[in-house]
Amino acid sequence: MERAQRVLAVDVGGTKVDAMVFAGDPGTPRPTLLPETRQTFETPDQPPAQALGEFQAWLRDVASQWEVDGWAMAVAGPLAEDHRQILTSPNIPFISHARPEEWDLGLLANRPFALANDLEAAAAGEVRWGRYGIADEYVILDTISTGWGGAFINRGEVWPGEPGHNPYVPVDGLPCGCGRFGCYEAYFSGSAAARRVREHFLARGAPVPEDEDPNRRLADAAQAGELWALALLHEFGAGIGLGWAESLNRLSRLHRILYMGGFAVAMMPFMEPAIRASIRARSRFPRHWTAEGLPIQPATYTQAEPFNPTLIGAAAVWMDRFGNP
Ligand SMILES: [Zn+2]
Repeated sequence: MERAQRVLAVDVGGTKVDAMVFAGDPGTPRPTLLPETRQTFETPDQPPAQALGEFQAWLRDVASQWEVDGWAMAVAGPLAEDHRQILTSPNIPFISHARPEEWDLGLLANRPFALANDLEAAAAGEVRWGRYGIADEYVILDTISTGWGGAFINRGEVWPGEPGHNPYVPVDGLPCGCGRFGCYEAYFSGSAAARRVREHFLARGAPVPEDEDPNRRLADAAQAGELWALALLHEFGAGIGLGWAESLNRLSRLHRILYMGGFAVAMMPFMEPAIRASIRARSRFPRHWTAEGLPIQPATYTQAEPFNPTLIGAAAVWMDRFGNP
């Protein structure tokens, strides 16, 4: 029997970096996580060149602790077409334009390396180790949290997407993090909800304290049946459903929609009826109108610890490329 291959997976996000070692046994339906290997690096508040130096030193140290066959890195930002270089990453300046395979990383040098976008990685993890068995399906995998990202999975092949930056309002819309105006993300993401909740309490003369998460309040109020919260989440559900219905009118054979991200996972029970109503009203394909015809389900790995979907996905990307058959 072949021994399990071990891969160091690294997830570079906006404020922190996560790393963990995975063991991939050929033929095992689930990845073996080694939680004792998990380490976190808080991005230092320093000029990019210095922050990069600290990050590389941390990575060298992590790599020196575990015997691995290779490593993989997923980044919350766009990559060059050849998947070797990170493009400009406004939220993670220290990693912009980097080519990680050229870094001096001690024990990781000359080990097989895979670089992936975070959503691409999450989708690869869903294909390889997901509970739904989607290898032969057409699937949308969207994450709705701070922003709204997503990928289309074409029978196992991952097509990166930018669903949150389709126009919801074509002219004079709200400003979006991407620099344009009127994107779905500006109206129906977790940060859009946080803004709306702050406005709600401000208008009542009781602003939400700066250090408090407004969406925590939204979830509690919805749970308690408060009408303002239910109405807000109904509106968000209608908007998210409209965005998905537009995709469905193009991708008529879609088998299922999977979602992840803190906002979507927490709020879905309150949003799903409105999402369904939107799809029913807008999709031209009757199969999409029912839960049997088009399941809308949480991804196998959501943000719930310790199943960081990006980290698991980075390991899956590496196994896809270099793993034992
Ligand atoms: Zn945008």
